[in-house]
Amino acid sequence: MEPVAETVRRLTDQGIDVVRIGYPDFIGTERGKDVLVERLPDVVEHGIAFCRAVYYTSPQGDVVPVPGGLDQGLPDVSIRPDLSTLVPLPWEPGVAACLGDTVDPATDAPFPEAPREVVRAAAARLGELGLTGVVGPELEYFLLEPDGAGWKRYDDAPGNVYVAGTKGDRSSHILRTLRTLRPMDLGVTMGNHEFASGQFEINLHHSEAVGAADRAFRFKTAIKELARRDGLLATFMAKPFNDEGGSGFHIHLSCADAEGHNVFADPAGPYGLSETARHAIGGVLAHAPALAALLNPTVNSYKRFGPDTLAPWLIDWGLDNRSAMVRVPPERGAASRFEVRLGDSSANPYLGIAGLLAAAYLGIRDRVEPPAPLEGYGYDTSKAPLLPSSLSEALDALAADDAFAEVLGKEFSTAYLTYKRNEVERFTQFITDWEFREYAYHL
Ligand code: GLU
Ligand code: MG
Ligand code: MG
Repeated sequence: MEPVAETVRRLTDQGIDVVRIGYPDFIGTERGKDVLVERLPDVVEHGIAFCRAVYYTSPQGDVVPVPGGLDQGLPDVSIRPDLSTLVPLPWEPGVAACLGDTVDPATDAPFPEAPREVVRAAAARLGELGLTGVVGPELEYFLLEPDGAGWKRYDDAPGNVYVAGTKGDRSSHILRTLRTLRPMDLGVTMGNHEFASGQFEINLHHSEAVGAADRAFRFKTAIKELARRDGLLATFMAKPFNDEGGSGFHIHLSCADAEGHNVFADPAGPYGLSETARHAIGGVLAHAPALAALLNPTVNSYKRFGPDTLAPWLIDWGLDNRSAMVRVPPERGAASRFEVRLGDSSANPYLGIAGLLAAAYLGIRDRVEPPAPLEGYGYDTSKAPLLPSSLSEALDALAADDAFAEVLGKEFSTAYLTYKRNEVERFTQFITDWEFREYAYHL
């Protein structure tokens, strides 16, 4: 690693005078501070102190009473920049972005509730088995445009726009995104129009888990920022519209051994998959209800699930079957992998990927055999169990799944459950438009 004084010199030579030090909160939005480049050595040495409330404050501004938060007077956490993540921001000349790690300011120990630490911990458990999780994220999202005081779906083209490069996308959002993000090294490889008007998908290249989570997190932040600059709102909300499908966060997973060989391939094994691959799938199915609490983390997430949506509804797996929760794509050999279609785009990429690694790790460690793969239509409730139908149910599953919670860390699981149960409680108490329309005039 180059000395920090050298980094300052290099950045200054590139015309960069500000470093944006960012990190993910519980829900995966970026928090951070902009720092003058000459202050970087001091920040590297001493960190930047932040109020722990960044983890415990909801998007609507309520400080959620998480243990270790308000009950202890909302003490500080400290952010240490991870200089290996420094990259110039293509849309903000003179600014470089850097991710940070959260530590306890008194002891310098990693803060166990920090999402980056949680994915690191889960990756380390797979490491104990001699394996590296290799993760390839895909993210779908909608672009919204101003509509009076609110936002409406970006009106790009009527009818079928699925993977139709030129038909929709009147402002060439995909082209501009690919080109703008190329120098950021996010592994943004491909993009396409999705099923709905104003819905897009971008695929990120695969890598080890922490890097993949960093890139997915930065990608989401970048898309929101680029859209804002176009006067649009990019939303990664799971299911923003009643009349269109939701936005998935599909994750491709394989495992590599110490030599970097994909251990999911076995030409002699059933379906050309190794025992390790089968067990990893078994773990993902066995822990799916708890995993949903991380990959489907909002009260809205559960409205995305359903028959005939291409989002899953049942806890099942299939060979190249998009109606299953876990799809094994047809490629084998070095490209052997499975695609977990459970997640939606509202997931914090760090926590979703951490949860997936934890489930795969437990499956491999405990040698969990999956049931036979799904044949045909995947939305038949006689074939497999249903996914949780609400965030509340998924949180109960997370609370009950001790092995899974242990891999993620007890402190994290407790804090996350408290935060998310508060979210459910606030929603349950809130009177929605639907209730007013259904009841106010007729009852
Ligand atoms: N939008 C679907 C989902 O929510 C996925 C569609 C696709 O397969 O690209 O998972
Ligand atoms: Mg898609
Ligand atoms: Mg996919």
